[in-house]
Amino acid sequence: MTLLFTSESGYMLEQTISEDSQSGPQPGPAYLCLYGHFYQPPREEPFTGTLPPEPGATPFANYNEKITAECYRPNAEVGNFAHISFDLGPTLASWLEQTHPDVYRQIIDADHQHRMRYGVGNALAQAYNHTILPLATTHDKQTQIIWGLNDFRHRYGHAAHGMWLAETAVDLESLDIMARHGVTYTVLAPWQAATPIDPTEPYLVRLPGGRSITVFFYNAPLSGGVSFDWDTTSNADLFAASYLSGHLVASKREAGKAQLLLIATDGELYGHHKPWRDQFLTHLIHSGAPSYGFEICTLERYLQLHPATKEVKLRVPSAWSCSHGVARWDTGCECTEGDSSWKGHLRHALNNLATRGDRLFEQYAGATLNDPWAARDAYLELHNGWMTPEHFWQQFAKEGHLPEQALAKGTLQLLEAQYYQQCSFTSCGFFFENLDRIEPRNDIAFARRAISLYWQATGFNLQQGFLTDLQQVKGWRTGVTGAELYRQLPRVQQGLLPPLAR
Ligand SMILES: [Zn+2]
Repeated sequence: MTLLFTSESGYMLEQTISEDSQSGPQPGPAYLCLYGHFYQPPREEPFTGTLPPEPGATPFANYNEKITAECYRPNAEVGNFAHISFDLGPTLASWLEQTHPDVYRQIIDADHQHRMRYGVGNALAQAYNHTILPLATTHDKQTQIIWGLNDFRHRYGHAAHGMWLAETAVDLESLDIMARHGVTYTVLAPWQAATPIDPTEPYLVRLPGGRSITVFFYNAPLSGGVSFDWDTTSNADLFAASYLSGHLVASKREAGKAQLLLIATDGELYGHHKPWRDQFLTHLIHSGAPSYGFEICTLERYLQLHPATKEVKLRVPSAWSCSHGVARWDTGCECTEGDSSWKGHLRHALNNLATRGDRLFEQYAGATLNDPWAARDAYLELHNGWMTPEHFWQQFAKEGHLPEQALAKGTLQLLEAQYYQQCSFTSCGFFFENLDRIEPRNDIAFARRAISLYWQATGFNLQQGFLTDLQQVKGWRTGVTGAELYRQLPRVQQGLLPPLAR
């Protein structure tokens, strides 16, 4: 058998392995892990909970339906999820659960099957709202991580060990909070390492609090090829033969050491971004990769077999889709076309609103709750009906009993305001070049829902300050301002929002 190897100096070497030779050490095992990040942002109108029609998705009613038909369903039905490592974003999971429960069940069962077979799961949790954690406050990082882990436990019936970071955006504080809550591994891009790495093995990152976490670095050329190059994934056999083998480290192979090629991409490329690539994935898993000497493996199983032994330092903050730290979701950078300074102004507006909202929350909810922040961390379960109100109040009310009705109602409205405030930081609002798109509009719509709830709970008008800040947010393409987008949002019942000054 002839294999192409990459030597440590980066040169391609052709090696002929004699298959009948009995002398010398056995070649080290080669593993392949396919990682899919499956995610859709929430698209519901936050006052009604309904998904507005999306004409771009015709003949489907909306993109979630289209992507389900092209990707989630075919991959689930053929059993691909049982063989890959994946995360299913909470906002997508809850939509699938309600709309296509059969597809949802098959995906959840894939993790179960993997656990039955190997003793560990193959699903990872995700920070709840796809928030860029390095840009979040410490409280928000904690809530995002805890909500993501609670959501996972509820859906999969066991604690998550892996967590996917939105855009693989990382800093040490977020990793430390993850490790504190039982997360043992995550996935990053190779350029997020600050010290030299061999991406065919996992690494330990030492964290400030004395803990550590394992990081897998994906293979960038392979992942990029699968994501962006059409021809790379037209034939699974050819892919295994001509692409995969060339990325193995020859010296490790010769020394009998194990190595892992990790291809991490958005999961939607398997069938949606790239039609029929669900079939490529099936063929690669069952035939292409095994025929060329690769064992299909998942991250958690690999860790069980070959735990990380080396350490790495990280470049922080950093992310997989920006080469300017995390500026793409903050001040803006050249990663998106045109004048991206609107991003900085939008973030400023959302941050200001959140600071004011947090102050109201602490002050007012602090009257009924022992620790408003601990209560917020648990609130997702109450919001989603996974915890009874009695249980919630027992745990978090001052002196453990239900406050009088009006106070209890106000506290729940404040917690709900915090819920929508978290949604307003969904990273998709900052990802693209243009302000005048559905994603930034949605972040503004979530912020408006939070403003409404603060208004109902306390009578404080956070709308005026937010609009003043949004006036500074100006899209370069159409000149539309954030304040105009706010005013264009659907009308709501009178009394739910402070009156809008004309
Ligand atoms: Zn950038």
